[in-house]
Amino acid sequence: MQKLTDKAVEIDRSPMTFSERAYLPAIAKGLGTTIGHIFKKKATVRYPEQKRPFSPVFRGLHILNRDENGAERCTACGLCALACPAEAITMEAAERKPGEENLYREEKYAAKYEINMLRCIFCGYCEEACPKDAVYLTETVMPTNYNREAFIYKKEDLLIANPKNKESK
Ligand code: SF4
Ligand code: SF4
Repeated sequence: MQKLTDKAVEIDRSPMTFSERAYLPAIAKGLGTTIGHIFKKKATVRYPEQKRPFSPVFRGLHILNRDENGAERCTACGLCALACPAEAITMEAAERKPGEENLYREEKYAAKYEINMLRCIFCGYCEEACPKDAVYLTETVMPTNYNREAFIYKKEDLLIANPKNKESK
Protein backbone atom coordinates (compact mmCIF):
# COMPACT_ATOMS: atom_id res chain seq x y z
CA MET A 1 0.00 0.00 0.00
CA GLN A 2 1.26 3.49 -0.80
CA LYS A 3 2.39 5.53 2.27
CA LEU A 4 0.49 8.75 2.87
CA THR A 5 3.50 10.45 4.55
CA ASP A 6 7.15 9.64 5.17
CA LYS A 7 6.57 9.91 8.97
CA ALA A 8 5.18 6.39 9.40
CA VAL A 9 7.09 4.25 11.91
CA GLU A 10 7.34 0.48 11.57
CA ILE A 11 6.23 -1.23 14.82
CA ASP A 12 8.42 -4.13 15.96
CA ARG A 13 5.97 -7.00 16.46
CA SER A 14 8.58 -9.70 17.19
CA PRO A 15 7.80 -11.74 20.38
CA MET A 16 9.20 -10.34 23.68
CA THR A 17 12.31 -11.96 25.12
CA PHE A 18 12.27 -13.53 28.63
CA SER A 19 13.87 -10.43 30.25
CA GLU A 20 11.38 -8.14 28.52
CA ARG A 21 8.52 -10.25 29.83
CA ALA A 22 9.99 -10.16 33.38
CA TYR A 23 10.13 -6.31 33.25
CA LEU A 24 13.10 -6.40 35.66
CA PRO A 25 15.68 -4.76 33.36
CA ALA A 26 13.16 -1.99 32.59
CA ILE A 27 12.48 -1.48 36.33
CA ALA A 28 16.22 -1.38 37.09
CA LYS A 29 16.74 1.15 34.29
CA GLY A 30 13.96 3.34 35.70
CA LEU A 31 15.40 3.14 39.21
CA GLY A 32 18.83 4.04 37.83
CA THR A 33 17.38 7.19 36.31
CA THR A 34 15.67 8.09 39.63
CA ILE A 35 18.80 7.44 41.73
CA GLY A 36 20.89 9.42 39.24
CA HIS A 37 18.73 12.50 39.98
CA ILE A 38 19.44 12.25 43.75
CA PHE A 39 23.04 13.32 43.19
CA LYS A 40 22.23 16.12 40.76
CA LYS A 41 21.82 19.76 41.80
CA LYS A 42 18.18 20.32 42.82
CA ALA A 43 16.10 22.42 40.46
CA THR A 44 13.75 23.47 43.28
CA VAL A 45 14.21 25.38 46.57
CA ARG A 46 12.33 25.07 49.86
CA TYR A 47 10.30 28.27 49.47
CA PRO A 48 9.46 30.29 51.60
CA GLU A 49 12.32 29.28 53.95
CA GLN A 50 14.75 29.55 51.03
CA LYS A 51 14.46 32.33 48.48
CA ARG A 52 16.18 32.67 45.14
CA PRO A 53 18.14 35.88 44.54
CA PHE A 54 16.46 38.27 42.15
CA SER A 55 17.85 38.93 38.72
CA PRO A 56 19.75 42.25 38.60
CA VAL A 57 17.15 43.48 36.08
CA PHE A 58 14.12 42.54 38.23
CA ARG A 59 11.48 45.28 38.34
CA GLY A 60 8.89 45.28 41.12
CA LEU A 61 6.50 47.68 42.77
CA HIS A 62 6.74 51.40 41.95
CA ILE A 63 7.52 54.29 44.28
CA LEU A 64 7.11 58.03 43.88
CA ASN A 65 10.26 59.76 45.03
CA ARG A 66 10.91 62.96 46.96
CA ASP A 67 13.87 65.30 46.65
CA GLU A 68 16.55 65.79 49.32
CA ASN A 69 14.31 68.36 51.09
CA GLY A 70 11.34 66.00 51.22
CA ALA A 71 9.34 67.75 48.47
CA GLU A 72 7.46 65.62 45.91
CA ARG A 73 9.43 65.34 42.69
CA CYS A 74 6.51 64.56 40.37
CA THR A 75 5.36 67.53 38.35
CA ALA A 76 2.40 65.76 36.72
CA CYS A 77 3.87 66.19 33.25
CA GLY A 78 2.20 62.97 32.11
CA LEU A 79 5.22 61.57 30.27
CA CYS A 80 5.13 58.33 32.28
CA ALA A 81 1.46 57.83 31.38
CA LEU A 82 2.27 58.56 27.73
CA ALA A 83 5.15 56.05 27.73
CA CYS A 84 3.13 53.33 29.47
CA PRO A 85 2.20 50.66 26.91
CA ALA A 86 -0.44 49.24 29.27
CA GLU A 87 -2.17 52.57 29.92
CA ALA A 88 -1.86 51.81 33.62
CA ILE A 89 -1.03 55.32 34.87
CA THR A 90 -3.54 58.12 35.42
CA MET A 91 -3.06 61.45 37.17
CA GLU A 92 -4.60 64.82 37.85
CA ALA A 93 -2.40 67.91 37.92
CA ALA A 94 -2.75 70.82 40.33
CA GLU A 95 -0.94 74.13 40.77
CA ARG A 96 1.28 74.75 43.75
CA LYS A 97 0.10 77.56 46.02
CA PRO A 98 2.39 80.05 47.72
CA GLY A 99 3.78 78.50 50.90
CA GLU A 100 3.69 74.95 49.49
CA GLU A 101 7.27 75.05 48.19
CA ASN A 102 8.36 72.60 50.87
CA LEU A 103 5.69 70.10 49.71
CA TYR A 104 6.08 70.21 45.93
CA ARG A 105 9.32 70.81 44.08
CA GLU A 106 7.77 72.27 40.90
CA GLU A 107 4.96 74.75 40.29
CA LYS A 108 2.73 71.89 39.16
CA TYR A 109 2.23 68.64 41.05
CA ALA A 110 0.14 65.48 40.91
CA ALA A 111 -2.95 65.97 43.06
CA LYS A 112 -3.92 62.41 42.11
CA TYR A 113 -1.62 59.72 40.77
CA GLU A 114 -2.70 56.13 40.26
CA ILE A 115 -1.13 53.00 38.84
CA ASN A 116 -3.33 50.04 38.00
CA MET A 117 -1.05 47.15 38.86
CA LEU A 118 -3.42 44.68 37.17
CA ARG A 119 -2.55 46.36 33.89
CA CYS A 120 1.13 47.02 34.61
CA ILE A 121 3.60 44.72 32.88
CA PHE A 122 6.59 46.07 34.87
CA CYS A 123 8.40 47.15 31.72
CA GLY A 124 10.00 50.17 33.42
CA TYR A 125 9.16 52.60 30.58
CA CYS A 126 7.57 55.01 33.07
CA GLU A 127 10.83 55.18 35.02
CA GLU A 128 12.81 55.82 31.84
CA ALA A 129 10.40 58.48 30.60
CA CYS A 130 10.33 60.51 33.83
CA PRO A 131 12.39 63.72 33.48
CA LYS A 132 12.21 64.42 37.24
CA ASP A 133 13.48 61.08 38.62
CA ALA A 134 10.12 60.83 40.35
CA VAL A 135 8.93 57.31 39.58
CA TYR A 136 11.03 54.24 40.26
CA LEU A 137 10.47 50.51 40.14
CA THR A 138 11.79 48.81 43.28
CA GLU A 139 12.74 45.22 44.11
CA THR A 140 9.57 44.73 46.15
CA VAL A 141 7.35 41.96 44.83
CA MET A 142 3.72 42.95 44.40
CA PRO A 143 1.67 41.62 47.33
CA THR A 144 -1.27 39.41 46.43
CA ASN A 145 -4.86 40.26 47.25
CA TYR A 146 -8.37 38.91 46.70
CA ASN A 147 -9.75 42.37 45.99
CA ARG A 148 -9.20 43.97 42.57
CA GLU A 149 -9.49 47.47 44.06
CA ALA A 150 -6.39 46.79 46.16
CA PHE A 151 -4.31 46.67 42.98
CA ILE A 152 -5.07 50.31 42.14
CA TYR A 153 -2.12 52.01 43.85
CA LYS A 154 -2.85 55.60 44.75
CA LYS A 155 -0.39 58.41 45.32
CA GLU A 156 -0.49 57.80 49.08
CA ASP A 157 0.53 54.16 48.50
CA LEU A 158 3.33 55.06 46.10
CA LEU A 159 4.88 58.13 47.73
CA ILE A 160 7.90 57.36 49.91
CA ALA A 161 8.01 58.62 53.49
CA ASN A 162 9.33 62.16 53.92
CA PRO A 163 12.95 61.87 55.15
CA LYS A 164 12.58 65.28 56.84
CA ASN A 165 9.83 63.88 59.09
CA LYS A 166 12.17 61.06 60.19
CA GLU A 167 14.90 63.55 61.03
CA SER A 168 12.57 65.65 63.16
CA LYS A 169 11.53 62.62 65.29
S1 SF4 B 1 6.18 49.60 34.41
FE1 SF4 B 1 5.49 49.75 32.27
S2 SF4 B 1 3.40 48.98 32.31
FE2 SF4 B 1 3.95 49.42 34.43
S3 SF4 B 1 3.20 51.48 34.82
FE3 SF4 B 1 5.35 51.66 34.16
S4 SF4 B 1 5.26 51.95 31.92
FE4 SF4 B 1 3.25 51.18 32.58
S1 SF4 C 1 6.22 60.58 37.53
FE1 SF4 C 1 7.68 61.73 36.25
S2 SF4 C 1 6.95 61.43 34.13
FE2 SF4 C 1 5.27 60.85 35.51
S3 SF4 C 1 4.04 62.69 35.68
FE3 SF4 C 1 5.47 62.68 37.42
S4 SF4 C 1 7.22 63.87 36.68
FE4 SF4 C 1 6.05 63.33 34.87
